[in-house]
Amino acid sequence: MARRKLHERRALVTGASSGIGRAIALELARAGLDLVLLARREELLRSLADEIASLGRRAAVVVGDVTDPASRLRTIEAARDQLGGLDILVNNAGISAHGRFANADPARLRPIMEVNFFAPVELIRLALPLLREGRQPIIVNVGSILGRRACPHASEYCASKFALHGISEALRAEFAPLGVDVLVVAAGPTDTEFFEHLLEEQGDLPWRDPQPVTPERVARATIRAIQRGRHEITPSVRGWLLLAANRFFPRMVDRVMTRYG
Ligand code: NDP
Repeated sequence: MARRKLHERRALVTGASSGIGRAIALELARAGLDLVLLARREELLRSLADEIASLGRRAAVVVGDVTDPASRLRTIEAARDQLGGLDILVNNAGISAHGRFANADPARLRPIMEVNFFAPVELIRLALPLLREGRQPIIVNVGSILGRRACPHASEYCASKFALHGISEALRAEFAPLGVDVLVVAAGPTDTEFFEHLLEEQGDLPWRDPQPVTPERVARATIRAIQRGRHEITPSVRGWLLLAANRFFPRMVDRVMTRYG
């Protein structure tokens, strides 16, 4: 495929109020796109929309919960009615919880699957007709290195990201004849508010990356991958090393994970 052009295109970003979503929205605006922004915190979305306007681009704000079908519908209507269509869908909104599976109940598993898996998948279903009419359309699913190699104390989160990675691979093949690309961003530890919004924190993860990457770096890598039509990226060297180790020495990585179990 020819290098994807971004100028004068239209994108929808979920979870745009902070972190990686905010950084991707700004980077897309700098590249010349108009945007629909979805999240629950209105004030943060409005200030981002102002910043995007100061870059000379349009931003439609949809305040809502990504798990709410009516909110999802409003994002698609905003893309169609205010931007005239949709070329890029960025499924970024995500949540997690820390703690052992044995100490948790379904009230932890369900919302994580709702936000991280069911919501993006249903948004894809809803957006597909508009994307098919778009120019060089692409779906960007923000996954995780934990969607390729699971770890203890975040079992529900790992499962939700594995599910997102899995459906992305299947849809990439199904959508290829429709001209719609699918990119997975297997993000590694990133310096955002993510760990401040955990649903539950029954003890910390046994390890923390002392040098998380910035959301801006993830955003720049994502934009480059969109332009190049990449299928999957891992925008963190440590994340990449973990996946490489897991590929060639899976038993060794199992043993390391078990030590933390
Ligand atoms: P943040 O907490 O900074 O951002 C999460 C975003 O998701 C916020 O904008 C939040 O907005 C939004 N969000 C959460 N729940 C909902 C909901 N129910 N409805 C609508 N929006 C929602 O974290 P990150 O930027 O780090 O996370 C972005 C993505 O990156 C996630 O998918 C995460 O799994 C992934 N990731 C992050 C890593 C990290 O180390 N930070 C590592 C690997 C992957 P609001 O609260 O306003 O609704």
